[in-house]
Amino acid sequence: MLEKDDCLERLAAARQDEVVITTMSVVVPWERWSNHPLDFASANSAMGHAADFAYGLAMAQPQRRVITLNGDGSMLMCLGTLVTMAQRPLSNLALVITENGRYEVTGNQLLPAFGRFSFAALARAAGLTSVREIGDEASFEEALPELLGAPGPVVHIWKLKRDQEGPPKPADPMRDRAWRLKVALAEKDEG
Ligand SMILES: [Mg+2]
Repeated sequence: MLEKDDCLERLAAARQDEVVITTMSVVVPWERWSNHPLDFASANSAMGHAADFAYGLAMAQPQRRVITLNGDGSMLMCLGTLVTMAQRPLSNLALVITENGRYEVTGNQLLPAFGRFSFAALARAAGLTSVREIGDEASFEEALPELLGAPGPVVHIWKLKRDQEGPPKPADPMRDRAWRLKVALAEKDEG
């Protein structure tokens, strides 16, 4: 099993100009390791919709890599996104599901049926083919370049230890985050 913060630290160190979309339980931990103009946290109002937001962004910005860091509870809330990702595959799209079996934001409640279903199996059943579960450090290191650069859609499931962190408290209002991303995308387009 992996530590969430350890994974995020390594990803932040390797990340260059990829867009990184976070939501819910990943927002605050990611901000410990990254403060990049192409980070966007859709935490405040969009549980379940980080992956489809990222899908739309990847479609609109095909020259950029777009990586979503989605919680397992958030993914479970919007499984249809997996079907959409398979129906029209985007080579610049990568999705991480941080699987710890808990709804951290609301108090670490257990996900329904946790342990009796598989996100990897769900993703493959939806028609996605580049899918892997990652549960140890060696696999994580091996998989990181794939997450950052392999033709997508790539789906990685990080098998995480249960952490004890309480509800995240995003530092900036949603409107400020959206504005920062918009400016960063426009600057990159011009450059
Ligand atoms: Mg979770």
